[in-house]
Amino acid sequence: MRRISRREFLRICTGATAGIGLLTALEPTIVNTLAQAAEGKPPVIWLQGSGCSGCSVSLLNTVSPSIEKVLLDIISLKYHNTLMASTGAKAYNFLAEMADKYAGQFVLVVEGGISTAAGGAYCYIAETEDEREISMLEALKHFGSKAAAVVAAGSCASFGGIPGAAPNPTGVVGVWEIIKDRPVVNIGCCPMHPDDFLGTLVYMLKYDDIPELDEYNRPKMFFPDIIHVGCPRCGYFARGIFAKNPGDEGCLAFVGCKGMVARARCHQRQWNNGTNWCIAAGAPCQACSEPTFPDECSPLYGRYRVSD
Ligand code: SF4
Ligand code: SF4
Ligand code: SF4
Repeated sequence: MRRISRREFLRICTGATAGIGLLTALEPTIVNTLAQAAEGKPPVIWLQGSGCSGCSVSLLNTVSPSIEKVLLDIISLKYHNTLMASTGAKAYNFLAEMADKYAGQFVLVVEGGISTAAGGAYCYIAETEDEREISMLEALKHFGSKAAAVVAAGSCASFGGIPGAAPNPTGVVGVWEIIKDRPVVNIGCCPMHPDDFLGTLVYMLKYDDIPELDEYNRPKMFFPDIIHVGCPRCGYFARGIFAKNPGDEGCLAFVGCKGMVARARCHQRQWNNGTNWCIAAGAPCQACSEPTFPDECSPLYGRYRVSD
């Protein structure tokens, strides 16, 4: 089995393009990490708060290796509200059992924002045997305190996202506003990209460490620069050719493109296994990778709004 250095891991992550999916490029590393998981290394527990489950769907879009292999072997997923068969108090008991068994070792993945208004009463996610409802806020505090690290999967979990948009009556915030005493890694975008998520998780499991993060706790290897820098429509921008409508030829700046704000690699690895991405499809980038999404990125076809 080929071993891989951190430097090479980072090189593969930052260089992976739409032609070669990250998971395919990392195959030797994944096999290695897979073997570690089989040896009883820490599992992953996945909680869902205020969101649309689109980040889970995005993860399910990964094709190589198969999603079954990813969920069961590579990340050794033990608990996921919508993917697991058991429900109710039985499921919650299993969650508590796993968190106790792997206390201080497991990675807690959170999808969806954290509703804080009314003590978390707008988002209950489980029920105990004595019929006590558990809010996402309570679950995050409880299980977050037992985790080795927390990964916020997607814009909602990272920064509040759409559920946290103004006027935000349910008080939704990102995980890092609740968990202060251990690392929180934010995987931006709405939804998160499966490569960004799995690459981060494999790095954490393989090296037992957190990848280098930017000022918003996003892994620098996946959020290195603004999209505008590598955008294939940059030539139009330089020549002053601007689209009048979405889908037209030209730079999309005047139809609401926020690619000068969005730090992400969508132009490199694209979406849906390299099928396409927003700007190539003629749609302006909405900077869904940013903490300011969606409030300051609205209206979709209007200019980016700088807050006071
Ligand atoms: S980040 Fe987007 S896709 Fe993911 S749960 Fe939130 S709204 Fe859904
Ligand atoms: S389409 Fe957007 S990201 Fe691309 S060059 Fe124009 S402003 Fe920049
Ligand atoms: S191109 Fe912009 S809006 Fe589209 S997924 Fe990437 S960051 Fe989000």
